[in-house]
Amino acid sequence: MKNSFYLLSLGCPKNLVDSEKLTRRLCLSGLRPTREAEEADTLIVNTCGFIEAARKESIDEILGLAKLKGGKRRLLVFGCLSERYKEELQAALPEVDAMWGVNAEEEIARYMGTSADDASADDASADNTSADNTSADNTSADNTSADNTSADNTSAEARPSTFPYAYLKISEGCRRRCSFCSIPLIRGPLRNYSPETILKEAEDYIRSGTKELILVSQDTASYKVKGFTFSELLKDICSIPGDFWVRVHYLHPSGVDDSILEAMAGEPKVARYLDMPLQHSEQRILRLMSRGGGRRDFTKIINRARKMMPGLAVRTTFIVGFPGESEEEFEGVLDFIEETGFEHAGAFVYSKEEGTGAARLPGQLPKAVKKRRWERFMRAQAAISLEKNKSLIGRGMTALVDETDGKFAIGRLASQAPDVDGVVFIEDEKGALKPGDFARVLVTEAQDYDLRGLSLSLKPAAQG
Ligand code: SF4
Repeated sequence: MKNSFYLLSLGCPKNLVDSEKLTRRLCLSGLRPTREAEEADTLIVNTCGFIEAARKESIDEILGLAKLKGGKRRLLVFGCLSERYKEELQAALPEVDAMWGVNAEEEIARYMGTSADDASADDASADNTSADNTSADNTSADNTSADNTSADNTSAEARPSTFPYAYLKISEGCRRRCSFCSIPLIRGPLRNYSPETILKEAEDYIRSGTKELILVSQDTASYKVKGFTFSELLKDICSIPGDFWVRVHYLHPSGVDDSILEAMAGEPKVARYLDMPLQHSEQRILRLMSRGGGRRDFTKIINRARKMMPGLAVRTTFIVGFPGESEEEFEGVLDFIEETGFEHAGAFVYSKEEGTGAARLPGQLPKAVKKRRWERFMRAQAAISLEKNKSLIGRGMTALVDETDGKFAIGRLASQAPDVDGVVFIEDEKGALKPGDFARVLVTEAQDYDLRGLSLSLKPAAQG
């Protein structure tokens, strides 16, 4: 137990990247992570402050872990929630021994008695100063805090490194000011990591056996460093030798131009997966959200992307119950998801966030109305998703195996992102599959979100 720590990571994949960064930093200094809180002498919570439900979950988890305190066990807290509400939390949670905001890995390591010299000097990802302070000069943004996609999916456990995928953060902060979103207030303005830093990290992951790199940020399409764009970054990552997939998360629709779609379509390693948070379909609401666009613009992008990348899965998120959203405007969203047939779509119930423009808008809707709309959305999307899944029955597809247990394995098609989409449960009669294998799977059964299938053979990373 001595010199061990238990890290609970809450919230989105960007938070998970920070948790992994801290874990690596502490491990390099000789500390040991544990799977069970009871086995550790330091308990750490990486908090999420995105919406009310996430804040409540963070506080509940902190209080839960506080019950395990006693003896010399310490409880530390960092992340988005404590970035924004540090003083209030310190006053309300005396059980917590120390608290930091975001980008605090080095300070936490110091507090835990490790010096920077203990850590490998080439651990570039632990170097927050490597984020280039160049903000992209135009285009888009993406609601990555809304990255969690389904409203009931606000947490992710600290991930054991046995999974064959890794999240790679390409920037911090956001240059957008969507009226409902507190992320720019918490994480600050956009700062892109340098291409060299990202490529080195990507190479390290591939060299150590990672089979899927998932590019995340608050605003992926806005990535630009001294004229070097996201499309160029994507091509460079794909040129790393090896058999692996690259998945792109959080493309703000206003940034999805031909250069991005062509870069994705032209690289066989890029998962045929377009993650484009739309938040609404109706122009009036999108204007109030300070996002712009509308159903016609979105349909155009999706049709073009589907044409360029056959078999493409489109993922998005919506906010239901935004201030002033009429019943008719909500029905517009339902029409739109029906008409578009999103492979994956999640919904958030609008949450009034302190300090945001939308919090001051008239027409805040009662909780019951928002909840009813969310439930209708989720029912409608489950039916769409089931139909999409049924269309795969009888087809042979490539899956990346995440976990195995004797004659069963859990994998994902290129159309299924970890943590937010479904999985494929694979019957593997010979017990031959291992995590990290690309397996050929015959899809035999479809559920609302998951699939079942039979293992056919191992094959290289080609999709479809
Ligand atoms: S793009 Fe909008 S929703 Fe996404 S993080 Fe930036 S401000 Fe928030």
